[in-house]
Amino acid sequence: MVMHKTVLVTGGSGFVGRRLALQQPYWTYLSSKDCDLTDSKQVREVYGDLKPDAVLHLAARVGGIKDNIENQADFYHINTLMNTNVIHEAYKAGIDRVLSTLSTCAYPENIHYFPFAEDSFYAGPPTKTNFSYGMTKRMLHVASCAYRNQYGLNYSTFCPSNIYGPGDHFGAEASHFVAALIHKVQKAKSGETIELWGSGLPLRQQLYVDDLCKIIPLLLQNHNSDMPIIVAPPENLSILELTRTLTKQVDKNVRLSFNGKMDGQFRKDGSNQQLMGLLGPFEFTSFEEGIMKTYKWYTENQ
Ligand code: NAP
Repeated sequence: MVMHKTVLVTGGSGFVGRRLALQQPYWTYLSSKDCDLTDSKQVREVYGDLKPDAVLHLAARVGGIKDNIENQADFYHINTLMNTNVIHEAYKAGIDRVLSTLSTCAYPENIHYFPFAEDSFYAGPPTKTNFSYGMTKRMLHVASCAYRNQYGLNYSTFCPSNIYGPGDHFGAEASHFVAALIHKVQKAKSGETIELWGSGLPLRQQLYVDDLCKIIPLLLQNHNSDMPIIVAPPENLSILELTRTLTKQVDKNVRLSFNGKMDGQFRKDGSNQQLMGLLGPFEFTSFEEGIMKTYKWYTENQ
């Protein structure tokens, strides 16, 4: 097992980065104000100043479906520059460990078996709604493998499923399903009907952010392969089940109405078998517990 003394985290001001800092306070966390990763000179300087022996690359231009459809060029341009600079400048600075964050969104849209596994990563294109973002994540995998193969460096990647939890982007237009749901339920009066998109039938894996933050240091130490390892919980619940898990636990009589529009993919669950092989015993937070911790956090911190 390799222990890293100086770990530099990009995307330190984001949702995952801020939660990770609570568990790993001695790592160094960068925002875009500390270093614009699209600028190779700034990346070179920061590596030179801080001399990290490992980089955790979380930073990305991230967004919801609307943002992804309307700003495809920005997603392409910003993410490609950031990823290229983080990897290439790390190689030039002699940093032999970079762990980069992909997403299960980079997996193909049309897969014939579920849960899909790492060997299906290139089996077809990602869904059209996040094609540009998904392809830049694939190129980050390509870059990690290329520097690993040519220079013998431990550059590796992992793919989280949807992430939720305290500190998420609540209420914003670009927020994810769970954050948007919590916001709506929290604001609803008793007896009110909440309208939700789609039919409620699609299945989704939801990863509790603090579970991911416990897994990241283990991946940093143990994940030394070219596998875009899937980080996802075992639960795969329908949107309706996810919603009811929250509404049945809060002290409010909220009714639900699904508008039948824009369901998205019916399933997109990934297998965590390879991950569990690396981690050993690991207990994921149940959605029932995670959603209430998140609801409580939002109620206390909004
Ligand atoms: P986030 O909250 O949107 O944070 C994005 C981070 O990237 C921020 O710290 C931001 O810095 C930084 N960043 C953006 N542009 C930058 C630039 N030009 N230079 C330097 N830093 C820049 O994202 P997140 O939800 O924490 O996601 C973390 C990682 O997990 C991402 O790689 C994402 O693709 C992946 N992921 C997320 C989810 C999810 O559900 N959230 C699911 C799967 C994978 P500023 O604050 O300074 O702008």
